[in-house]
Amino acid sequence: MKLPDFLDDKDFNQLRRTMGAESPGQFELFDPEKQLTYTEREALESGLVELAAPALRVLKDKTLAYKNSRVWLQKGDDIHLAYCKTVQSLRHREQAIQISTGDFHPQHQSVCLECLSVLQYQGIDARRMRRAEFSDQVVEQFSMDDFKNAYPFYPIL
Ligand SMILES: [Zn+2]
Repeated sequence: MKLPDFLDDKDFNQLRRTMGAESPGQFELFDPEKQLTYTEREALESGLVELAAPALRVLKDKTLAYKNSRVWLQKGDDIHLAYCKTVQSLRHREQAIQISTGDFHPQHQSVCLECLSVLQYQGIDARRMRRAEFSDQVVEQFSMDDFKNAYPFYPIL
């Protein structure tokens, strides 16, 4: 089916002139299936949002996303940033998961080391992860702000 070209449509242009609009303007289509609404963004930024596991996206770089934003996922006291084994098993079971884009609480939560090694974040790999003192240091020094600089959260395609 061929769609009519509304920019070149006599009736449409007549209507446009009647409305006093000179140019057709630019319009962006908003797709709530693929783009976060303002309310969703606010909820993600200010805390945890519950989601059905299959709605979680895994990006090419192995980070996690929901619609057009990167997110992190909470499971117990762990913060997951990538598609590690734990996240894989959560995604395969059709359970509810909890995601966020906001700050986490380093006193109560710690970042998942396997996620960091999946991403090879700051040179972290599986071999170095096995050294306990190195892993402790990584967890202690992890900064969500730095992570967001390396992997901007919003908006993504
Ligand atoms: Zn993880």
